[in-house]
Amino acid sequence: MNEKQLREDFKLRVAGVEDGSYCFSVSCNKEFFELAEIEEVLDGLLNLRIEMVRNEKLISLSFHYEGEISMTCDRCLLPVNVPLNFDTRLLVKLVPIVEEGENDDDDDIWVMDENIYELDIFHYVYESIMLALPHRVVHEDDANGNPTCDPAVMDILNKMNAPKDEKETDPRWDALKNLNLED
Ligand SMILES: [Zn+2]
Repeated sequence: MNEKQLREDFKLRVAGVEDGSYCFSVSCNKEFFELAEIEEVLDGLLNLRIEMVRNEKLISLSFHYEGEISMTCDRCLLPVNVPLNFDTRLLVKLVPIVEEGENDDDDDIWVMDENIYELDIFHYVYESIMLALPHRVVHEDDANGNPTCDPAVMDILNKMNAPKDEKETDPRWDALKNLNLED
């Protein structure tokens, strides 16, 4: 799938669409995450279901995201699967003239020209996913409370950490000790 085609998937036509309810499905796949430059996501598939309720002056959009993505484990740096399941809502008010600054305050309410042809939700979907991403991901502990991270990496991490705690001292403390002796 090329970039242009992918962007087209995130355009909802509203011109000439009669009042009523409509349903759409879009996939946020690896190509989407690359195009949106969401570097935190290595791979994955989120199925996005969109319900659009169209009235004369108002379009109400409900988004349901469901799927699994792959992110980098903060402990061992290997990929870890993260299930995601969340909802967002967007209201689009249709007006004869859009005043300057009218869209500055609220990301979830858009004010658009009533003659608009389509809604481009690509950036909205990008921001919704960014907000839903966990800040820290690690491989889960097993039933015994042991980390399921890559054992080889954990070995290296343990070796790096162990001598540091036991042997190394802060040179600034040594300097202070010397000062005290001179007094
Ligand atoms: Zn890990």
